[in-house]
Amino acid sequence: MKFIIGNWKMYPKTLKEAKAILAAHRRSARLLKRTKVVICAPQVFVGALATGLRKTTTFALGAQDVFWEDEGARTGETSPAMLASLGLQYVIVGHSERRALGETNKEVSQKAAQAMKHKLTAVLCVGEQVRDDAGEYFGLVRSQLHASLAEIPKNASAHLMIAYEPIWAIGSKALRPAAPADLHEMTILIRRELVAHFGKTAGFRVPILYGGSVDERNAEGFLTLGEADGLLIGRVSLSPEGFGAIVRLVEQKHS
Ligand code: PEP
Repeated sequence: MKFIIGNWKMYPKTLKEAKAILAAHRRSARLLKRTKVVICAPQVFVGALATGLRKTTTFALGAQDVFWEDEGARTGETSPAMLASLGLQYVIVGHSERRALGETNKEVSQKAAQAMKHKLTAVLCVGEQVRDDAGEYFGLVRSQLHASLAEIPKNASAHLMIAYEPIWAIGSKALRPAAPADLHEMTILIRRELVAHFGKTAGFRVPILYGGSVDERNAEGFLTLGEADGLLIGRVSLSPEGFGAIVRLVEQKHS
């Protein structure tokens, strides 16, 4: 099974548009057998989008962030218990755009651990700001991941995914998408860290996704040469045509 996760970020502007895009994505996921589509919508829309959404094995709704407690005096926050009560199954944690607002590895780890207690799959994002010639980015991603896993119990890997998202490759200001080779060296590093934390069997089961300027032309390389288990897609996930094309391609080529 390959995972195609859409991160809508702070788009679209209205619930009406959100419903229309979601309906189109649902339609393109209808006949999937080998691919799972997850749409992570803005927090304010997830309740309305979840209402009446039938659970299927190939399509799910998720959120883009979550707090690390189930309830409390936390103005503006959303808890894992609240997301789970809507029937959501996925939540992104530690996206670089949230880390840029000051989120720490410890907070990311607490968020992931608490979400996983509610059987929400935490899509935990890591990635370096730049690639330096000396290869310091390896150490940086390793320690970021190590610290972001710290609060997750060693026997609790079932509801976890890691998304490797190099910041230099994300968004409309990206330098370029990563090359599959850039990803491949990182999947090896990430896998090692997962095995060190969860042990060999469980560590190998955690899916590793790639995110950063994925489109219809480059998607395939990340899954084959890059050995990713899925993709985290920002901008293109707002386009039913572009996103649908990636989903079809992945479904055709992968088991
Ligand atoms: C993202 O925001 O997670 C992302 C990968 O964005 P984009 O696909 O637009 O680069």
